[in-house]
This record gives sequence, structure tokens and C-alpha cells, in this order.
Amino acid sequence: MNDAHLSARVTIDLSALKANWKTLAALAPKAETGAAIKGEAYGLGAAACGRALWEAGCRSFFVARPKEGEELRAVLPEATIYVLDGLYAGEAGYYLQHRLTPALISFEEAQEWARDGQGAACCIHVDSGINRLSFSATEIAKLVAAKLPLHITLVLSHLASSEEFDNPFNETQRVRFEAVRKLFPGVRASFANSSGVFHSEAFTLDLTRPGIALYGGNPKPGQPNPMKPVATLEARVLQVRDMGKGEVIGYNTTWTAPRDSRIALIGAGYRDGIPRRMSSMYGTSCVFVGGKRCPIVGRVSMDMTAIDVTDAPVKRGDYAEFFGHNISLDEAAGFAGTISWELLTHLGSRYARHYLT
Ligand SMILES: *Cc1c(COP(=O)(O)O)cnc(C)c1O
Repeated sequence: MNDAHLSARVTIDLSALKANWKTLAALAPKAETGAAIKGEAYGLGAAACGRALWEAGCRSFFVARPKEGEELRAVLPEATIYVLDGLYAGEAGYYLQHRLTPALISFEEAQEWARDGQGAACCIHVDSGINRLSFSATEIAKLVAAKLPLHITLVLSHLASSEEFDNPFNETQRVRFEAVRKLFPGVRASFANSSGVFHSEAFTLDLTRPGIALYGGNPKPGQPNPMKPVATLEARVLQVRDMGKGEVIGYNTTWTAPRDSRIALIGAGYRDGIPRRMSSMYGTSCVFVGGKRCPIVGRVSMDMTAIDVTDAPVKRGDYAEFFGHNISLDEAAGFAGTISWELLTHLGSRYARHYLT
């Protein structure tokens, strides 16, 4: 895509994505390593990321919506595609048409798939404590008792606090999931998301489902990130202006120049997913430009963000990095009081996108 008439650009390094998948695969050598590719691969593009992951060796993909499954099927004709939303009422035919495997979440869905699913594979998503979309313990008992004609190929459960390695709830969930798994002898099991892969083998089981770590997020918060950065978010410097000491900038005049200053206006704002929380009144958020980290000043607006470049050699047309190789995704998310998942998936559509292979 041509950058000439768009300010902001996202660069997606597909070889880093592949390397991250391989790193995660090497950490769980007895398990198959899948990929969570929901939400258009966390905003980075399901088709390009799906193809790259397939090339790396990934064969099992997890989407949220069935529509995401249809779109992924178009680029990956042979992949196994699980739909985490479960089975939409009356839509079994759609799942069959696109060969999507529903991760069933209730007895009602199981009955519907047994009736309309033509014996196609399904997955059973069981709760082990997070209480999101999934079979409860009572519903599982009903399922087991009913002996429905289902071709169950996977039992799945999801951790609530996998990135908190000391949280005893991880083990609580694991023990509960073990008990449920026994009700499905011979069926493969999947438990670990990104951080889950960094727990013991008792968590990685037969198939892992990393998401954020593939896309460069740190699965071990507070420790060095073992993953490579995948996404870089940059935008153009649209203007460099001088501001005298005592002048104010931006909506609601929240920042007053403490000295004569040089300010760069960067062409990315909250429409482009730069959280308004990055505004200077919430603390120091930085953008990397001219070889330096420069603080955001005043309020992030819809189309632009102001930074103090008094100490950096910056000129009109330069690109400023919000996250990438100089400021990590996790650090940028921290500036806004949010998490890497949210920052990445909120980037909006007003970007030039580049895929590096
Ligand atoms: C999103 C999701 C994942 C991936 O989680 P990450 O923390 O991004 O690795 C795995 N499993 C389920 C059920 C999910 O919803």
C-alpha cells in the first residue's frame, strides 16, 4: 500500500511471526502448537498471518466468529479451524459448508450439532473456573449421560490468570480440567494460551492456543520478553512548531510549556487507536523519533498527537514510532493503562499496512 497519502503505517513482520510460532512450538515439544487468530489475527490481518503461520507449520487455528472462520478457510483450505463462539443457532450448515469445527459451549449446542452436524468433528469447551463461553460442570454431566452421537476431537478449557505464574488459581483450574478430561477418554485436550505455554507440560497437553505471544506481546509480564516484535506502529511528523515558555497546547489546555519548546505534531490520534489515556495528564507516555523517546504533551486528539521534541532532531516527514523495536508493545500499552491485546486490536483502519516477509 502506498504511504504517500496516509500518515500512519503498521508494519507486520511475518518472519518474526513465524519465528515466534516456532519458539512456542519448541517450548511444548510434545504438543501440537496452534494459533489464536481471532479478531483478524489481533488486528494484524488474518489472511497474511494465517498463511505465514501455515508456512511455519501451524495446522490448527482458533477464530471467534464463524465469519472469521469462513474468511480464513478461503486462504487455508486444509487447516483445522475452531470457532470459539460455539455454534450459532440454526447455522450448522454454514459450519459444514466452510468445514469449521465448533467449540461447543452448551448441551443445547451439542444436541443441535448431533442433529444437524452430519457427524462432523466438534470440540467441547469446558469451564474450569473462568465462567466464560463454555460447558458448566452440570452441563457436562448432562452431555456425558446423553451419549449423543458426536464426533468429539478436542476438549478445551481456558485459563483465567495464566500470565500470573504464582497465582494458585492456575493449578485449581488444571485439576478441575483433568477431572473433566477423564470423561472423554482418548480425546485430545487443549488448555494453554500464550502464557500457558510457559507453564509445565501438565498445562500444554495435546494442543496449545497461543495468541498474543505470536504477535509479539510478552507472555511473561515483568520479565524479558522471549518473543520478537511483530508489529510496528508509526506515523508522520506533520509539523514541527516552536512554543514559548508558558504557552499551552491542545484541547482543554492541559499542558503548559515549562520552557521554550519544540513540538512535533504526529499524524495519529485516537481514531488510529492511540488511546486518549496516553495524554500527558495521565503520566509520561513516549513516542520514539529522531533517535529519542519524546514525551506526549497535552491531549491526544482524533487525528494527531503532540510530542515534545525540544531535545531531538526531528523534521517534518519523519516517522515517529508508537511501538515496535524501540518501544515495546507492552510498554506502550502500559502508557495507556491497558494491555497489549487491547492496544493491538484497536488500531483502526486508517493505516498503510506493510507485510515484511
Ligand atoms: C484469545 C484466546 C486464546 C489466546 O490467548 P492469548 O492470551 O492471546 O494467548 C486462547 N484460547 C482462547 C479460548 C481464547 O479466547
